[in-house]
Amino acid sequence: MSKTVSFISRNFGKYNPASLASYEYIGGFTALRKALSMDGEAIAQVLSDNGVQGRGGAAYDMGRKWKQAREVQAPHKCVVCNADEGEPGTFKDRELLRNDPFQLLEGMIIAGWSVGADNGYIYMRGEYSHLRPQLLSAIKQCEEKGYLGDNILGSGFSYRIHLYSGAGAYVCGEGSALCESLEGHSGRPRMKPPFIKQCGAFHLPTCVNNVESLSLVPPLLLDTEGFYKSQGTPDCPGTKMISVCGNVKNPGVFEVPFGITLREIIYDLAGGIEDGHQLQLVQLGGASGRLASPAQLDTRYTYKDMKAADLTAIGSGAVLVVDERTSIIGFLRITQQFFFHESCGQCTPCREGNRHIRMLLDKVAAGTHTEEDIKLMEKYARIMSTASMCGLGETAQSALLSAMKRFPEVFAIKKEVAVR
Ligand code: SF4
Repeated sequence: MSKTVSFISRNFGKYNPASLASYEYIGGFTALRKALSMDGEAIAQVLSDNGVQGRGGAAYDMGRKWKQAREVQAPHKCVVCNADEGEPGTFKDRELLRNDPFQLLEGMIIAGWSVGADNGYIYMRGEYSHLRPQLLSAIKQCEEKGYLGDNILGSGFSYRIHLYSGAGAYVCGEGSALCESLEGHSGRPRMKPPFIKQCGAFHLPTCVNNVESLSLVPPLLLDTEGFYKSQGTPDCPGTKMISVCGNVKNPGVFEVPFGITLREIIYDLAGGIEDGHQLQLVQLGGASGRLASPAQLDTRYTYKDMKAADLTAIGSGAVLVVDERTSIIGFLRITQQFFFHESCGQCTPCREGNRHIRMLLDKVAAGTHTEEDIKLMEKYARIMSTASMCGLGETAQSALLSAMKRFPEVFAIKKEVAVR
């Protein structure tokens, strides 16, 4: 099995991302022409037939999501492209936006046609503001050429795409917080139901997909030979964009077939650990991901295998590699501080849980903690994961709980404290 593939990233370096004509020259918008000749249901079925799971954290069946969005009866609907990519260590969507903005727009137009939407919104994280001019220009060129606007390519389908920038809040990656932010409000998650598929951005039925999911649609519609499905494993076909960073020699973005092992990702693609240091842990899926120990390096990168190994599902595609120079408790303190800072404060388990866990980790770092502190920390973490209102609070302590399981020695009680 080849260790890298070009399917979603097939256009990288092959055209000028500032030029629609250049994109058309390499076959751009052929997939849209094909899509407009198909029924929206049939397009969603292509996603289902290829076993595509959304590339956001939840890994929801993408074809099913589009079919559900189609079924909602409403005069207006919208598609939202989640380009918030706020998970620390994740930067593969940035590369898709930078190298191939037209493929994303083509995927969004096809999504609009399939689900019956009349507007699409790209919600891009504030830190990617340098990509705004290129994306705005791409949208304008598509409007001028008739790929966006009224009666697209004479199909009778009218659709527009709008670009919004966030202000840098991590929680705006959560669908309902993103919708709030799009509307100009503070980015705070909403109580559910109603779910955003019924009442999302601007209180319209909304279908949210991230950049990678939407960018996958054009090549998939043109893949009549079944190349995508031939990649990966029978349980988990296809490819995935990942970003590898941390203490590796060659950090970067790679497109890999599902089924590759963590060892192959770290040592064959990213060149192994820098300067002869020793691998200590790997965090998968961003700051909300669990920690893997070196003993788990042969785990295959599929949704099922990762789950069986008690690791975070693929999530955002981040692979953060940490060597022995970093203190695990220090790493956990920074992670908890990050979530304490990013919690929107709306619900008590998350707002207070992050604060208390951070204080208890300070005690562990100082070596003044007791057995009771460790039990309390675990109790807070478990309450947060079940009682928080959104995914931030539910997953903020994934690193901590997995560290307690895989690196119990770093929580050991110092003798003089234990006998006090
Ligand atoms: Fe806000 Fe955290 Fe509650 Fe989510 S879990 S609503 S981020 S306080």
